[in-house]
Amino acid sequence: MKSNSQDAANIVWHPQLVTKKARNQSNGHKSMMIWFTGLSGSGKSTIANALQSELFKRGIQVYVLDGDNLRHGINTNLSFSMEDRKENIRRTAEVGKLFVDAGLVVLAALISPVEEERQRARSRFAEDEFLEVYVSCTLQECEKRDPKGLYKKARKGEIPQFTGIHQPYEEPKNPDICIDTTDRTVEQSMQIILPIILEKIAWKKGKQ
Ligand code: ADP
Repeated sequence: MKSNSQDAANIVWHPQLVTKKARNQSNGHKSMMIWFTGLSGSGKSTIANALQSELFKRGIQVYVLDGDNLRHGINTNLSFSMEDRKENIRRTAEVGKLFVDAGLVVLAALISPVEEERQRARSRFAEDEFLEVYVSCTLQECEKRDPKGLYKKARKGEIPQFTGIHQPYEEPKNPDICIDTTDRTVEQSMQIILPIILEKIAWKKGKQ
């Protein structure tokens, strides 16, 4: 399914009359990709969803792109091989980029274990439009939580290629935000991240 460079060369980007800036201005906040990375069970989906509720309450256009949910649809044909994880991240970044263009704050929650792939995702956005949030948690604690019973299955050999057990997780080198959830409640994690995000998406008149 590789794209034909000859075909691509003949496809010209058609600019839209309603711009991202106009949408941001109308919404009263900036659109942005907020990319949550971390081990399975670290709390990415939980924090992204709690954050979504808080932002939604404040009238912010927000949407969660959850890695597991995407695998039910657009990414249904992808496995957990390194090659397919790469494609999973690429597609999520591209869908997220469209949503950001449409004026939304996008909260993407994916294990995204490889630094190079996360950097590639970041490279698809403007510098001030992408925030990497490292949801850090010890493997021991993730395994103890095991909210979906996946670690138990992985230990029994029922899930191959499980991050943290069979495949490495590369810690972000320079995340924009780091939340260690090992000894924190969801509420405490929210108290850290919510004010930072509200500040980042604030629409400052004359500054955009
Ligand atoms: P992930 O999306 O990273 O795989 P989930 O959000 O699905 O992880 O699951 C995380 C689990 O850990 C949930 O059961 C959640 O209630 C629990 N948890 C405990 N403390 C925290 C915290 N500080 N932040 C987020 N989740 C937490």
